Amino acid sequence: MPARFRGRHVLHRYENSLERCVGCYLCAGACPADAIYIEAEENTEENRVSPGERYARVFDVNLLRCIFCGYCQAACPTGAITLEHDYKLASYYPEDMVFHKEQLLEPKGQSTIGSNTVWFEPAPQEAAQPVPQVKHVFDGSQASAAAVGLGDIPNEEPVLLVDEEQDEDRRKFERGKDWEHA
Ligand code: SF4
Ligand code: SF4
Repeated sequence: MPARFRGRHVLHRYENSLERCVGCYLCAGACPADAIYIEAEENTEENRVSPGERYARVFDVNLLRCIFCGYCQAACPTGAITLEHDYKLASYYPEDMVFHKEQLLEPKGQSTIGSNTVWFEPAPQEAAQPVPQVKHVFDGSQASAAAVGLGDIPNEEPVLLVDEEQDEDRRKFERGKDWEHA
């Protein structure tokens, strides 16, 4: 697989197990697909999760919306989020395609920066990449306030939330009946 392949996101830790993510919302602001949802919370002396003022208490990536552009990785000031090589991303259920922090975060004791290493090098001429922010300055876009899965595109809501036919299919599937002929 090419070193610069972009698959499912990974959230990284420092060597002391603190989370790299400081809940700054830059990745959510840079995301052109509104696929990242974050709820940040203050670190305290009793509960220090990241080295910054805040950490991401909630960090969800909606892989139904994601176009794997890598802008979130490029926008992150701490190298906290990278797109890695996990490409087996399929599910019968759309809600399973929203990956939560618990699924994205590296385990404690594992300090990595993932594909950040390969992006440090200049891109080969034949693989020139788009640059998300040409001036390397956050453009001031607001971070996403949309609930995960509940995007601004109207036809997403019935698919993800209130599609009765889909719910019916799911019940049949969970009862172990044949998917097509139940
Ligand atoms: S890879 Fe692109 S579309 Fe996917 S979450 Fe990151 S910025 Fe958004
Ligand atoms: S840009 Fe990086 S540090 Fe900021 S919220 Fe996103 S992952 Fe966390």
